[in-house]
Amino acid sequence: MSCSICLLPFTPAPGSTCPRPPPRGILDTKQYTYFQYAIGLGSRIGGVVSPFEYLDGNNFRNTSSNLMIMMCVWESSGGTDFMCHAACAKMVRHALGMEGDDFETLVEIAGLEKVLGRPMGGAKAGWLPDIRYKELGTPHVDMAKYWETGDEPGGNMFRWKAFKDDGFEWMFNRPDMFPKFKGVSEKRKKSIGEPKQPTSDIITTQPLDVIQILLPYLSTPSYMALTSTCRILRKYALCEFQPEARRRVLELGWAVPLRSEYEKNASKAFMASARIEESPVDADWLLYLCHVHKTAAMRMRRRVWEISQGIARVWKAKRPMSVIADTVGENGELVKSAERRKLESSVQQSLLMSQMLPPLGG
Ligand SMILES: [Zn+2]
Repeated sequence: MSCSICLLPFTPAPGSTCPRPPPRGILDTKQYTYFQYAIGLGSRIGGVVSPFEYLDGNNFRNTSSNLMIMMCVWESSGGTDFMCHAACAKMVRHALGMEGDDFETLVEIAGLEKVLGRPMGGAKAGWLPDIRYKELGTPHVDMAKYWETGDEPGGNMFRWKAFKDDGFEWMFNRPDMFPKFKGVSEKRKKSIGEPKQPTSDIITTQPLDVIQILLPYLSTPSYMALTSTCRILRKYALCEFQPEARRRVLELGWAVPLRSEYEKNASKAFMASARIEESPVDADWLLYLCHVHKTAAMRMRRRVWEISQGIARVWKAKRPMSVIADTVGENGELVKSAERRKLESSVQQSLLMSQMLPPLGG
């Protein structure tokens, strides 16, 4: 029951009849709950994108309540369904440019298997073929070492304790728990103290705009080191240079929430956003920049982000040669392939089916 992106397992939900939970003390309650849920993607999933909970025994149960087929058998006939943790699903959809819920996007999601292949069964159950997971994500980890093959489909077991003992406990943190983002506090400003005047060194005697021109040439560790050397530069970093810290945060890609993570989040007042109207340029981007490089959750987020980008690179390379790519028609024009037309009608069918039952209690 491995996530097809981060290759970490799911944890069995309370309704499971034969649960195999991780040993006690490995996960805290919040982590356990997070790992219990999945997002299913692709043509094998009713509605193409749908939420599930893991029931162990090779089963996932649909939690959207308006599908006729509630249960999903994960591993069968040498392959599995495409199941991911919630944040992993969001990041891979972003990397693939498939965040929308419009028909065209859903057809592309349904076509993932035609381009990337079906997730494999057996020893590498849930893994996408042709993805070199071992070479993706910081640090590179051979996840195969931590999976044991089961006797039956869906019976593979994760070696939770060995994984933790090898120092990878930080990967159990949710990759969508962002550091708090806020304005520059008076306390932080006061902590700098009054700069000594006048100065005579080569840097602080330069006009402010000259220093600002030089900043982008520094790596982030060098930038941090330079701006901690004296009170004047510390004060600049906390006030005048906040746009530079912001540029460095946004350049990372993974360090701010995706739109879908930001918009419906109850704590969005404390979340950083790439939009100036939501997160002003003079807020404390410097503190945020320090925190995104320190927390375990952000370390895991960077890893999932990099794996997702790697999957998207393979998809982009294979998509033009795939059976769903456009073909050349009789008059030299591009036309939809037969497989693509078949996929569109099956998505239409799947969407119709998923809307047939009203939500429970509705
Ligand atoms: Zn995952």
